[in-house]
Amino acid sequence: MDEKNKQLLTQLLSGELPDEHGRFGEFGGQYAPETLMPALKNLDKKVKTLLNDSAFQQDLSEELNQWAGRPTGLTYAKKLTELWGVKVYLKREDLTHTGAHKINNALGQALIAKQLNAKRVVAETGAGQHGVASAAACARVGIPCVVYMGAVDIERQAPNVDRMRQLGAEVVPVTAGDQTLRAAVDEAFRDWVSNPDDTYYILGSVVGPHPYPYMVRELQSIIGKEAKDQIIKATNGLPDAVFACVGGGSNAIGIFHAFLGDESVELIGIEAGGRSQKLGDNAATLASGKPGILHGTYSMLLHDEDGLVQETHSVSAGLDYPGVGPEHAFLQSIGRVTYTSAEDDEALEEVRACCSMEGILPALESAHAFVGAKKWAEGNQGKTIIIGLSGRGDKDMPTLSKVLKI
Ligand SMILES: *Cc1c(COP(=O)(O)O)cnc(C)c1O
Repeated sequence: MDEKNKQLLTQLLSGELPDEHGRFGEFGGQYAPETLMPALKNLDKKVKTLLNDSAFQQDLSEELNQWAGRPTGLTYAKKLTELWGVKVYLKREDLTHTGAHKINNALGQALIAKQLNAKRVVAETGAGQHGVASAAACARVGIPCVVYMGAVDIERQAPNVDRMRQLGAEVVPVTAGDQTLRAAVDEAFRDWVSNPDDTYYILGSVVGPHPYPYMVRELQSIIGKEAKDQIIKATNGLPDAVFACVGGGSNAIGIFHAFLGDESVELIGIEAGGRSQKLGDNAATLASGKPGILHGTYSMLLHDEDGLVQETHSVSAGLDYPGVGPEHAFLQSIGRVTYTSAEDDEALEEVRACCSMEGILPALESAHAFVGAKKWAEGNQGKTIIIGLSGRGDKDMPTLSKVLKI
């Protein structure tokens, strides 16, 4: 990193970024309809106050610990360590309530919605993980929850639809657009635009207009704070590298943030390489995208010359998104975080390795991080790493059974 980029990183770490326009350098911002701007401005103000309020932080922390299963463990992966030649530690977000890091964010935002006196909550979901987390958090906090979900996804993810309904949420099929996650986000925004006064929108990743990327990062950064304490206790030092999968980028930013100021720690995000590097065959936004606007934020994006957002593909539904959080685009641009990708087949192989060697069934999304770590290990024998295990893989059993023929 050169001096100018180091300075930008310092600004990020001191809280000067995102700036008053919600920008991380050139990325981020608020590209929303006029009718939504007052609600976003109000949210921005409230979020900053609440996140710095010790009573709110204490409520959040108690709920995270008592209800959501925090702190999560840091597991030494003995057999992977032997096989790869680097000391491997796994940060176990798979052990949280509802089975993935998404609950950290959903619970935090549900508590914020309560503070804002929202009468109802809307949320979007792709594979259903964020929908389930939001439904559970809203039940706990006591606010009705409506989840928008693409009709195609409703078909593909039936068990999660039942879980959401069982938890008291109303699941609304979205038949517009691509009938998947992108359309569900559009629909949730549309609902919020029509009901800005009594409705709160729980967005599921570090994307969307400011203050979402900032707020969701703050709520997920508990992952890295815990991991840093735990690795220092376990090894008397910092890790040499930290790996996490990147869809919208919330689990990755959550585990990276505590280490951003530690120059010696390499940070590596792994996107979905899908079937191939061809546009449309993957969701490797940072690796092969270009800057553009999607869902209210200026970030890297998979679109063609005419600006048309492209269909994406990944075997893991949670990574199958054409955009990425603006803070990741920023961290890539200043050279603090490196982004690579892992293809479907490689991720499937690591699911199998983690199962048979460590007795842990990881989410297909998380397995992408293992691929990146394994490749890195080849040239870095003897070093110490943490892999963010973002969620458990039970939800992927239908896909795994089909693809792995088990
Ligand atoms: C949703 C999901 C992801 C991807 O979302 P990010 O915002 O990129 O973290 C990764 N892993 C799991 C288990 C998920 O459910």
